[in-house]
Amino acid sequence: MGSKIIVIGSGLGGLTCGLILAREGHDVTILEQQSRPGGCLQCFTRSGVKFETGMHFIGSAAPNQLLGLVLRYLEVYDNLRLQPLDPDAYEIVVIGNEEFKFPQGYNALIQSLSQRFPAEASNISALFKLIKDVANASAMHRLSVDDSDFVLTTRYQMESINSVIDQYITDPLLKRVLVGNLPLYAGIKDKTPFSTYAFITDFYLKSAYRFADGSEALSNELIRKFTEYGGRLLTDKQVVHITCDSTHARTVETSDGSCYEADYIISTTHPARTIEWLRDTKLLRPAYRQRINGLPNSLGAFSLYLKFKPGTVPYLRSNVYEYPAGDPWECDNYTTDNWPLGYLYMHFSRDEATDTAKTGVILSYMHYDEVKQWEGTEPMRRGHEYEQFKKEHAERLIDLIEKRHPGFRDTIQNYYTSTPLTYRDYTGVEGGGMYGIAKDINLGAAGRVTHATRIPNLFLSGQNINSHGILGVIVGAVITCSEFIPIDTIFKQIKAFYDPKLAQ
Ligand SMILES: Cc1cc2nc3c(=O)[nH]c(=O)nc-3n(C[C@H](O)[C@H](O)[C@H](O)COP(=O)(O)OP(=O)(O)OC[C@H]3O[C@@H](n4cnc5c(N)ncnc54)[C@H](O)[C@@H]3O)c2cc1C
Repeated sequence: MGSKIIVIGSGLGGLTCGLILAREGHDVTILEQQSRPGGCLQCFTRSGVKFETGMHFIGSAAPNQLLGLVLRYLEVYDNLRLQPLDPDAYEIVVIGNEEFKFPQGYNALIQSLSQRFPAEASNISALFKLIKDVANASAMHRLSVDDSDFVLTTRYQMESINSVIDQYITDPLLKRVLVGNLPLYAGIKDKTPFSTYAFITDFYLKSAYRFADGSEALSNELIRKFTEYGGRLLTDKQVVHITCDSTHARTVETSDGSCYEADYIISTTHPARTIEWLRDTKLLRPAYRQRINGLPNSLGAFSLYLKFKPGTVPYLRSNVYEYPAGDPWECDNYTTDNWPLGYLYMHFSRDEATDTAKTGVILSYMHYDEVKQWEGTEPMRRGHEYEQFKKEHAERLIDLIEKRHPGFRDTIQNYYTSTPLTYRDYTGVEGGGMYGIAKDINLGAAGRVTHATRIPNLFLSGQNINSHGILGVIVGAVITCSEFIPIDTIFKQIKAFYDPKLAQ
């Protein structure tokens, strides 16, 4: 019999750790505070249609690509229905009034950008070579620890996106076009590392897909496999305390008075929450607590969920990033008067009979300070003023889009909204930030959270320990699980799914 492991949180991080360890024969229980599992993979249904909350598209998911291999290793790939985005324009970046289509694949994108910016052609090629090299340098990309290029990875974790782009590119418009997908990592000028940009650009450039049945299809599959391997998932279990003796963590307590003994504990929630539950122990140093509590969190978002009138909106196989004010880097510097300075617009589901969209979402940055006055309230009971605040922001977004795309307002049957407070309350993420702890090159090693803690049987996982997003979180889970299974063994198991026949 394996060890008794308690995993806190049933988002992608918790479910992945749970599944890998239950399959290894451990006795795993996942504790989830909500009545619905899945964290950011959750969907919600209104007026008979489904909306995704925090996983709208994924990359590198063709069978022989990295995420495809990893999802097959997790035994969930075959039951996921994936819909490819447009290979000629998986992303469309609109700066001012000019539209730039991002085609799939390094060569196609380099060619397309070079046609529009011929004087920069060789610089574009050099920049994309660097992106590829940095992405490929990581152990996970190569599925090999020995082979990884630690020097290259470390260097570009310490240089900002804008400083590296400045070294390669001179055209100011092209510099802005290149960071058009900034909301995918909530990038901040002079802070967000180039390595983050390289990983995400490479990830989606290889292939891009939506979940045909919504992102909850992934959590449902992970749960199905996890329980098949004997794992237990308990919902409505809000963790409030972890007790320790003089050397180890011993029990996890939930708000309903239950107490769970554990040989090992893996917390996938925000690290600041985890150390709060460890308030009684001296096993964590005050300096560690102070550092974790002082880490910056990523920006939050206002989400406008749209249900379209049937048959009115052609289904869009692209994600559209619009910057009416012209500069992606400036979007977080909005004022109450000029919000929003940019937004990301995506469709979710398709009416197959008419090839029209049934639902979509528009995301735009929102600082937590804007909703802080309601932080003491509960979801659905935040009061009239909060509802007014949301309505005003929704109307403002719709007005802006209507101005740019006349007729847009008429296509909307209903809309629903969420703010950073919604994410804070549904996922426990500090300050409602989209992607947990923000990466900042200026903090160096002090800005990073490792999966191991000073408590020998307490580990961390989830988006805060490696990176956010589907691949970042799964890689983080693999790193955490390497405490139980040698990482080389995991890499070998993943590599075994590579099919040479598909490569021909
Ligand atoms: C708006 C938005 C859009 C996004 N779009 C994409 C995308 O298109 N593609 C992509 O790859 N990534 C996307 N992401 C990022 C991605 O969703 C996350 O990085 C990832 O899902 C995080 O997984 P996690 O397990 O670390 O955390 P979470 O999903 O937040 O899970 C944490 C879980 O812990 C639970 N929990 C918290 N506190 C407690 C407690 N006290 N007791 C018990 N349980 C607790 C929560 O309820 C939650 O279920 C998006 C994120 C957001 C917010």
